[in-house]
Amino acid sequence: MSQPNPDLFDQENCALLAAQAVYNIEAGAADTYRTALGELISCYDQLLRQTRRLVRRSDRQEFEMNQLNHRLADLANELEYRATHDSLSGALNRAAVIERAQHFLARSDMAMIVLDIDHFKQVNDSFGHPVGDTIICGVVDCLQRTLQTPGEIGRVGGEEFTVILPQQNYLQAQQIAEHMRAAIAERDFALPDASRITASFGVSWMPAGADFGTAYSEADEAMYEAKRSGRNRVIRADQLLRA
Ligand code: GH3
Ligand code: MG
Ligand code: MG
Repeated sequence: MSQPNPDLFDQENCALLAAQAVYNIEAGAADTYRTALGELISCYDQLLRQTRRLVRRSDRQEFEMNQLNHRLADLANELEYRATHDSLSGALNRAAVIERAQHFLARSDMAMIVLDIDHFKQVNDSFGHPVGDTIICGVVDCLQRTLQTPGEIGRVGGEEFTVILPQQNYLQAQQIAEHMRAAIAERDFALPDASRITASFGVSWMPAGADFGTAYSEADEAMYEAKRSGRNRVIRADQLLRA
């Protein structure tokens, strides 16, 4: 048979009942009052000490819980960052680019730039993969420094990037792409043979309600035309001759 839980405040309860009983005596002896009061004082004192200890413990636990909550929030942010960003360059990853482009297109028109580094395989072959990686980071840095309007930069493939530009018309997007192209071409990437890096650009523009796939394939097609026509240039999708 399990014992009932002893009352935590058994002693204090008894002292209280005794004090109440004494209080109800109309004319008790002084000793009786004194004994009851003494017992009440000792229990009250004990209660105060226990309460202080409990308050301290609860403050400490609240502090620890706040710290854990902050840590959890930091971890959630870190997870969100890792799930949406490319670990090498810090640009958005492909899934995040698609998600944000769809978000923009659901609300407004949007221009899209697709760019691909020229002859990148040669850089890897000549100077090694780690040097190639620094070029990828340098290109993203050029894009970030050049982008002055609201927009997002993503790495959608090995050496292929996308810039999404909500509420920018064709001409504005073309000018941004041109600045980006020049920033890359003019940057000293400190390659051992002092050679320069260039990239080819394609630009598309879509009205609100269009889908990501169409925006991307039009910009990609224009980018390939930029490759075919000599590289290190910007081509707009609406300038392509359609069969
Ligand atoms: P093009 O001017 O026609 O674009 O030629 P390319 O040499 O740039 O194109 P290609 O597709 O032949 O080569 C792309 C190279 O990019 C091949 C691949 O090894 C390299 N690459 C892809 N991802 C990475 C990466 O994360 N780091 C490095 N260093 N290289 C990468
Ligand atoms: Mg390339
Ligand atoms: Mg490529």
